[in-house]
Amino acid sequence: MSKSLQAIRGMNDILPEQTPAWRYLESTLVNLLDGYGYKEIRLPIVEYTELFARGIGEGTDVVDKEMYTFRDRNEESLTLRPEGTAGCVRAVLEHGLAGGGQVQKLWYAGPMFRYEKPQKGRYRQFHQVGVEAFNLPGPDVDAELIVLTWRLWKKIGLADAVTLQLNSLGSSEARAAYRDALVAYLQERFDQLDEDSQRRMTTNPLRILDSKNEATQAVLVGAPTLGDYLDEESRQHFEGVKARLDAAGIAYQINHKLVRGLDYYNRTVFEWVTDKLGAQGTVCAGGRYDGLVSMLGGKATPGVGFAMGVERLVLLLETLELLPSDLNQAADVYICAFGEAAELAALTLAERLRDEVPGLRLLLNSGGGSFKSQFKKADKSGARYALILGDDELASRVVGCKPLRDDSEQQSVAWDALAEHLAACLQHA
Ligand code: ATP
Ligand code: MG
Repeated sequence: MSKSLQAIRGMNDILPEQTPAWRYLESTLVNLLDGYGYKEIRLPIVEYTELFARGIGEGTDVVDKEMYTFRDRNEESLTLRPEGTAGCVRAVLEHGLAGGGQVQKLWYAGPMFRYEKPQKGRYRQFHQVGVEAFNLPGPDVDAELIVLTWRLWKKIGLADAVTLQLNSLGSSEARAAYRDALVAYLQERFDQLDEDSQRRMTTNPLRILDSKNEATQAVLVGAPTLGDYLDEESRQHFEGVKARLDAAGIAYQINHKLVRGLDYYNRTVFEWVTDKLGAQGTVCAGGRYDGLVSMLGGKATPGVGFAMGVERLVLLLETLELLPSDLNQAADVYICAFGEAAELAALTLAERLRDEVPGLRLLLNSGGGSFKSQFKKADKSGARYALILGDDELASRVVGCKPLRDDSEQQSVAWDALAEHLAACLQHA
């Protein structure tokens, strides 16, 4: 027997019963982004490997361990995008979208790929909505991004379920000075660190702050903190962000250990976290990356952005039972037709109703069937009305309009009056 075909581990089908929740979340967010003047950009899923190696940085988990990299038939090294920022910056540069200092506020949505250990809230194909703003160096836009996400949480009922963690990484010089101090401190305690952290001492020492290992965390208690190394300009920038969050009434926790997994951040970094999803608690993460555009070959261009994990947010909405109850909207009307002539008339009538009643959700019976079987299908569809069309109705150019969700009587309605009749019925219910 041949092995049955299955999806790749960690890459999920999103089934019809789940897609309404996804569409609800995505459309709420997209409407909100429209309202703040962010424009959509659509980017390729595959890029040259070099883009991520340079943009995200060697020594990061993503580049060293998590990328799906392969050679195409022309022996080019390509990678399924593990995140969206690098590709977005590449596109902005390639098309001159941020040239001459022009402001760009962009968003994108779609699948990302990382070879991780699949578990609840962590997959190998997952989805992000990402937002990036270019050529805005001030703290106002950092705050705007956070205010915007806060509005989303309020809108979908998550305001009490998430908290904001905030930090500033300072300038790249300040970060380098801090890195040296941290390395000097940890070098003296090298033996007490876990293996991963020992390896990171040479590749990416700031990431040690992020370690989940208890022994390592114990060592870190006395370590120098990033906050003490902030340069004056970054300190002022950070004050500017905090003042705006205070003005907007958004609570935050300063977390000096928040460094983020990707290498390109400077100054503001933030994460929205929840304690309702176990270990995979970060639902949205972002920060400022003023050095990235020049790292990828462009003129120095300030940038700041965030990415949300769509699976984790949907999971959170399901866990907390916050999804609106009417997401799986049933049909309004189901048309039953009996016999060839009635079927033809039903088709033209259905198309006419679609023209005349905007937004009508109409199911036209397919596959024929007896009165009993069609009626059963109409009932099962969840439709509010069944429209019945047989030889008698055809002869007198009417349909039987039968309410399916209450006991009221079936009415006979002339074809020409049907659109108006249905519109009125549906509006009142
Ligand atoms: P984590 O620490 O959870 O691995 P990260 O720092 O690697 O996250 P980012 O690169 O900042 O994550 O991605 C932004 C968001 O995308 C995360 O906060 C999370 O919500 C989501 N995300 C990241 N990796 C995955 C994954 N493998 N599966 C599902 N969602 C993910
Ligand atoms: Mg990760």
